[in-house]
Amino acid sequence: PWTIEQVKALVREFPDFPSKGVLFRDIFPIFREPEAVECLVDHLVERVRALGQRADAVVGLDARGFLLGPMIAGRLGVPFAPVRKGGKLPGPVARVTYEKEYGADAFEMQADAIAPGQAVVVVDDLLATGGSCRAAEELVAKLGGSVLLNAFVIALTGLEGAKRLRAPVYSLIEC
Ligand code: 5GP
Repeated sequence: PWTIEQVKALVREFPDFPSKGVLFRDIFPIFREPEAVECLVDHLVERVRALGQRADAVVGLDARGFLLGPMIAGRLGVPFAPVRKGGKLPGPVARVTYEKEYGADAFEMQADAIAPGQAVVVVDDLLATGGSCRAAEELVAKLGGSVLLNAFVIALTGLEGAKRLRAPVYSLIEC
């Protein structure tokens, strides 16, 4: 069986991707090892259970939050709800716009994705400035829910993304 330290070691770095000066962290090597994925999901589920409060749903961010989010939700036996880029989800949606490096972007959730009063865990691969996760927190609030925990594989601590978030942050790797 894999240890969480071995799982961490699978994350790769790519200089100058997607643009010059950016050091991109790639989590996909983890997904080439089915048992490493199990270890990672076990680890994140354990962090959620350690909160000691029931999570009613798991919310995953477009796009790599869709990889781990449903697996964590499945282990917890709760629904998964996606946050998508604007214009991708059918039916009534809640919408939040947020600033990115080059202009504004929009995130949406289906209006019935979570029920008022529900407490959720937000999942994504990486926390950078916190802009995307902050938008997700606002969407959850718009639907009448609250965030128990924002969980990531990686957090770029120098950017202080956690300071922009309302709910606590857990990240397996800090760099
Ligand atoms: P933020 O909104 O916190 O500035 O950026 C986080 C979002 O950008 C996440 O959805 C994440 O997937 C993506 N992202 C930014 N930099 C990286 C990176 O180096 N590696 C990966 N895997 N995702 C990144």
